[in-house]
Amino acid sequence: MPSVEPLEWPFPPTQKNPPWSREELILALNLYLTHRPKLPLKNGPEVKQLSTQLNDLAGCSGNSSTFRNANGVYMKLMNFLSIDPDYLVRGKAGLTRNNKDEQLVWNLFAYDEALLNATVARILAFIATPASMPELAGDDDDGFVEAEEGKLLTRVHRSRERSRLLVRKFKEHVRAKKGSLACEGCGLEAADKYGIEFADVMDVHHRRPVHTLQPGDKTKFSDLAILCASCHRIVHSRRKWLSIEQLQQLVAGSGRSSISR
Ligand SMILES: [Zn+2]
Ligand SMILES: [Zn+2]
Repeated sequence: MPSVEPLEWPFPPTQKNPPWSREELILALNLYLTHRPKLPLKNGPEVKQLSTQLNDLAGCSGNSSTFRNANGVYMKLMNFLSIDPDYLVRGKAGLTRNNKDEQLVWNLFAYDEALLNATVARILAFIATPASMPELAGDDDDGFVEAEEGKLLTRVHRSRERSRLLVRKFKEHVRAKKGSLACEGCGLEAADKYGIEFADVMDVHHRRPVHTLQPGDKTKFSDLAILCASCHRIVHSRRKWLSIEQLQQLVAGSGRSSISR
């Protein structure tokens, strides 16, 4: 009789983990860059800490021994090692896998220490303040593309610009100051185009870069801009959101070459 243990089915008997989100990859890249050219120990405190933070981010702390466990975190560090040009130059190769998302995150953040540090700090601040964490389940609004910095900070941005009280007060403020609500991108006034009863049908956009958004921030009027629905979608139509100035350049027909990607 063969003495082979019967295999459990399905094997491994766990659900496949979902792909890593943008913010998860950013935190892993940060850990990798902090330690390279070495990796932290597989069962060391840094890897365990990131595993815990990622479970907290996913809202499954304590529920899962498989979701983003230390082994998974370590594998992700190996992925970054495998695409690190410095490491490759020395003739070594890490795991070769499909690392497209890792490569994108690397290209955006590995060479911009200030952006990486700010983004990591903001993501960790929200993880550490569960009451401030936006709901991450579900799809984003149609036509509003997740920012480079990931879904969490995108949701924070969207929740602030959809705050009814804030939107109402800001519109009152602009109306008192300028006499009407004109789109800061294209100048459209809903009242002129559709009639006075539609004058208020304008979006409010939060203009601060998402990697500067902190839990408990007080939004200032200077953080906000009036946009028509079309201009607001244009701003959010690509992962690198446009600034109001870039939007204005597009509208003026002179900005195409200055906007990358
Ligand atoms: Zn507009
Ligand atoms: Zn917006």
